[in-house]
Amino acid sequence: MSTYGIDLGTTYSCIARLDSNGNPEVIRNNEDDSNTVASVVFFENENNVVVGQAAKENVETDGERVVQFVKREIGKRDTRTYEFDGKTYTPVEISALILTRLKNLVEAQGGTIEDVVITVPAYFGLEERSATKQAGELAGLHVLSLINEPTAAALSYCARQFQEDRTILVYDLGGGTFDVTVVKMSMTQNESGRDVQKITVLATGGDDRLGGKDWDDRLYNHILHACCDENGLTPEEIEAETRQDIRSKVEEAKRKLSKKQSAKVRIDVNGSRTEIVIKRSDFEQMTSDIVAKTMNFVDATLEKVPDAAIDTVLLVGGSTYMPMIINAVEEKFPGKVQQHDPDQAVAKGAAIYASMLVEEVGTSSAQGEENSGGEVHHAEQLTSKFTVEDQTPRSFGPGVVDTKGAKHKYVLENFIKIGEKMPAVFSKTYYPLEDNQERVLLRAFENMSTDDTLIPCVDEDGNPQATDPAHNVKLLGELVVNLPPKTSRDTPIKVTFKVDASGVHVEAVNTKTDEKFETFLRTESDIDVERSAVHQLRISSD
Ligand code: ADP
Ligand code: MG
Repeated sequence: MSTYGIDLGTTYSCIARLDSNGNPEVIRNNEDDSNTVASVVFFENENNVVVGQAAKENVETDGERVVQFVKREIGKRDTRTYEFDGKTYTPVEISALILTRLKNLVEAQGGTIEDVVITVPAYFGLEERSATKQAGELAGLHVLSLINEPTAAALSYCARQFQEDRTILVYDLGGGTFDVTVVKMSMTQNESGRDVQKITVLATGGDDRLGGKDWDDRLYNHILHACCDENGLTPEEIEAETRQDIRSKVEEAKRKLSKKQSAKVRIDVNGSRTEIVIKRSDFEQMTSDIVAKTMNFVDATLEKVPDAAIDTVLLVGGSTYMPMIINAVEEKFPGKVQQHDPDQAVAKGAAIYASMLVEEVGTSSAQGEENSGGEVHHAEQLTSKFTVEDQTPRSFGPGVVDTKGAKHKYVLENFIKIGEKMPAVFSKTYYPLEDNQERVLLRAFENMSTDDTLIPCVDEDGNPQATDPAHNVKLLGELVVNLPPKTSRDTPIKVTFKVDASGVHVEAVNTKTDEKFETFLRTESDIDVERSAVHQLRISSD
């Protein structure tokens, strides 16, 4: 089968597919003897770029040649780039290197990889989503779709525990991010009248700077001070090599403490070997405030959906292996907690979703294989049991001119509002601002507001204006709509926005000539047309 699901994580990434029985399975990373690949890239020299655990091991010694946590940068405006050996890398290109490593895992085991679904955090906006998709394409993958991480985790869980209507809280504590999502699973019927399970995201929350790394940092400080006590030194007297030695052993010690009551680490303290024993109870005590912090985010997210009664709490993310997390969540939701494949659930859910999409389309090579093999009947049964209903992560609409009233108002009309069912489509007809206008520069915005219109949004030249920062208005790109000579100001121009999990599609049709425009330009430098107030659309025909 050549259809795969990919969890492109902040600290660890994972790739999965459905096996010949239709059950999701992760492709092992034999080199690191792990189910996951560390999302860390080490630029050793111009001929060698290393991804995974080996790269991670260079964080302390060659930190300036290592890139990690790149997911935090992807799709951000004015994002930083990285330079190594005379080459410049964008976050998209670094992410593509991680995806290539995952692709190589499949190929090294004799598999072929064509269609993929990549997961993204539910709070990712459009730019982060399209940058993720771009990274996939750069890695030579055909990205069928993106899917929200908690939706994928819920899909993977429900594939095993098929149940009727449930409200699930997904508690995803990874290496550097904490995401809380409330999803609803409900039974519904598809077009062919078959019962299917629908998954809807009801609320999201969390913190993109909270994760396993915070536990690592506490443990690092604890071990550092223990080394000082053992050797009669002050922290300032501890040499850099010793600090590096501690740093490189912290994560392993933390993982040991998930299994055992105590962990031993041997550190070379300024040349003298020192053994430190950490008790799980001490580790839990020194990090109890971080556990409490995650629970506060759970409460804050639940406040957004006061009517939701949580049936199940799904623990995902590698950090939920820590017993202190399981206990804290269990205390708040007694009898409702399910630990479900913490580091694999997201990738497995993506693999299930990828197969669902391929079955729907029915054209992929994977489909052919299934039909000819005849063995994977079960896979079809499994995937045809679900539909995924994601919601728009932002509101979207064009910047237009309201000409009613004494003074022109430049507004953003929200076509599609945050939380709407995807795919979402909305069309509205506008008109050129003036007679004989040569063209329109149609600007598409995303924002966090649920209002129908935002004022002011753009200035007279159509550039984004300062609005309430809480609305987070971002110019996504522009569409140049050329108008034939002598176009009257009453010519209807129909503008359509379509939003799905992979991005926004904008098109404009001159309904007099039926000419359609859909080349959406994302950066200002792509547009070599002079900006002016004349290049606008107005709201109604007056
Ligand atoms: P991501 O943040 O990329 O989504 P994961 O969900 O795989 O990644 O979580 C990675 C985090 O989980 C890291 O901080 C890692 O140290 C931690 N982790 C993995 N396994 C364990 C374990 N057995 N005990 C404690 N922490 C773990
Ligand atoms: Mg994750």
